Amino acid sequence: MTANLLDFDLEGLAAFCEQLGEKRFRAVQLFRWIHQKGASRFDEMTDLAKSLREKLPSVCHITDLPVLSRQDSVDGTIKWLFDVGDGNAVETVFIPEDDRGTLCISSQAGCAVGCRFCSTGHQGFSRNLTTGEILAQLWHAEHFLRKHLKSTDRVITNVVMMGMGEPLQNYSALVPALRVMLDDHGYGLSRRRVTVSTSGVVPMIDRLAQDVPVALAVSLHAPNDALRDSLVPLNRKYPIAELLDACLRYLPAAPRDFITFEYCMLEGVNDQPEHAQQLLSLVKTHGGRGVPCKINLIPFNPFPDSGLKCSERAVVLRFGQILNEGGVVTTVRKTRGDDIDAACGQLAGDVLDRTDAVRRLADRRLTAAEQPIRFVHKAKDKQV
Ligand code: SAH
Ligand code: SF4
Repeated sequence: MTANLLDFDLEGLAAFCEQLGEKRFRAVQLFRWIHQKGASRFDEMTDLAKSLREKLPSVCHITDLPVLSRQDSVDGTIKWLFDVGDGNAVETVFIPEDDRGTLCISSQAGCAVGCRFCSTGHQGFSRNLTTGEILAQLWHAEHFLRKHLKSTDRVITNVVMMGMGEPLQNYSALVPALRVMLDDHGYGLSRRRVTVSTSGVVPMIDRLAQDVPVALAVSLHAPNDALRDSLVPLNRKYPIAELLDACLRYLPAAPRDFITFEYCMLEGVNDQPEHAQQLLSLVKTHGGRGVPCKINLIPFNPFPDSGLKCSERAVVLRFGQILNEGGVVTTVRKTRGDDIDAACGQLAGDVLDRTDAVRRLADRRLTAAEQPIRFVHKAKDKQV
């Protein structure tokens, strides 16, 4: 098996080139061809020495993930389903807004954390994605969109690791992928425009601070351990106090001076005014001075057999109001791509039964693909 160059960050590619007897600047050239120009064939790379262009195909390749389907929402959201083999599929979602284009990327096929309100969690864990599979989602989406929009400029301006999987449980593949996103010779995204979302893998939050301190979102979902234990099983290992301590340690390295807490609104479970009060006092007093944060309320996206319901709109607004009035900036996430099930926690809902997943996904491709793409810009998350 020859190497897939999507698996390398620039240092990795330089080391690979060195083994071939090539200088570092060749690695930079190759890297720019791949990530900035979207090249997948070496004969396109006209400024590489001809001898190198001829040698490369025998030792390496640039291989994308096979697309099982692409669905385009009326609101401009686009969802891709990529085949990662053995009946597994992962999803990637592009969300256009007035001032940015955000790509939501998956880090694992399935997820081992098993949160009660998450369809990926219900699906169980299949495997970690490789760096190349994480980056292929960005590579594919960016160059597809540029071609479609006839743009030579960057279309994806923000990346959020909020697709399927727990990124901090796939740390060794995640870090080189993040480095490529940030690299000026790669996608050149600033650290504040790349967000890792985690259910709270405390030791890896500390490592991220050292290795690639991008923006951090923490999926909190509950203001006390008893409730969080029942929603996010990982809480039994890393309870709230330890998680918030890790957030405080992360802040000095973070590109923003706050942590984003995500809070999925579940009717009658975690959405009452007393939960909001408890949450407020938690984030305002933890460690003595509190945790500088913003809170993002996510309306729960139901899926079959979850046994849970989304809180009423008025309940969500009242919850947000308590937090805002208490001095913690709180927004309510807009759901996007409703017509194509592109919202959080609905990803790859169809692959619940993995035995037959690829066939059903392929059937869906026949009905869903090749619709025209429309970009309808929508406002950002609304502050309540
Ligand atoms: N594993 C990481 C990142 C992927 S999940 C994490 O948990 O943070 C991305 C976000 O979607 C998380 O905040 C998660 O809690 C939320 N989410 C999962 N299922 C959801 C659902 N059914 N409705 C609304 N949000 C959901
Ligand atoms: Fe995994 Fe995140 Fe879903 Fe929890 S919410 S099961 S951590 S993907």
